[in-house]
Amino acid sequence: MAASAPNATDAEILAAARAILDASYAIALTGAGMSVESGIPPFRGPGGLWTKYGEPPMNGYQIFLSDPKKAWEDRIRRQNDELWGPLKVAKPNPGHTALAELEALGVLRFLITQNVDDLHRQAGHSALAEIHGNWKLIRCIECGARFRGEEIRLEVLPPQCPKCDGLLKGDTVAFGEPIPPDVLQHCVEHSARADLVIVAGTSATVYPAAGFAIEVKQRGGMLIESNLYESEITRICDISLRGPTGEVMPRLAASVVDLRKARLS
Ligand SMILES: [Zn+2]
Repeated sequence: MAASAPNATDAEILAAARAILDASYAIALTGAGMSVESGIPPFRGPGGLWTKYGEPPMNGYQIFLSDPKKAWEDRIRRQNDELWGPLKVAKPNPGHTALAELEALGVLRFLITQNVDDLHRQAGHSALAEIHGNWKLIRCIECGARFRGEEIRLEVLPPQCPKCDGLLKGDTVAFGEPIPPDVLQHCVEHSARADLVIVAGTSATVYPAAGFAIEVKQRGGMLIESNLYESEITRICDISLRGPTGEVMPRLAASVVDLRKARLS
């Protein structure tokens, strides 16, 4: 693990706030680091669930398709295991709240998250794409409709789509499963307009999510990271804000508010 650096200075926060206010279309890309601060164990890295229990099969989607009934039975059995348990009790942290605040201010236009935990929505964020799905939702793999868990009856497995009778699956994207086309389309559209990306709680190494940030940078846009440790994304970031996102993002949001007030007066 990289040595921890001192937390972001006020001058760094101010520089980032200035860049965000000067941007014409700022978006954010978030990842597991934000979830960890809400008590959700990561998949990768030290203490990660996959590190502990081994990676799930790389053909998880094909396994689902080959026996959806069994896949649903497994899913129901796992409702209280080490991943699902923390998801059920997790609450948005100040980092999630700060990003939602930046959206409410009209400063942050869109958010792409790799997290499946629903916490950005719970914090009040509305313009977002959950690129790996949302654990609370069930998705029809034929028509793409999403349903909340309680809307779907599970007496007969696998359940069928109320709209088209298609096969239903948890919205969380499995290994080997294509990113749902509607989500991917939103990400492509918003990142194409973006001239600044706030990368929070992710080393941005998992594709396709990472590609959106890198593409904005390649077009001459700006990258601001908020991460606990230096990582592969750091070398291409214009501003690196060290520290937990739950501390850095609220400072950043407060700085944006102050700076905007000062500019308006
Ligand atoms: Zn359907």
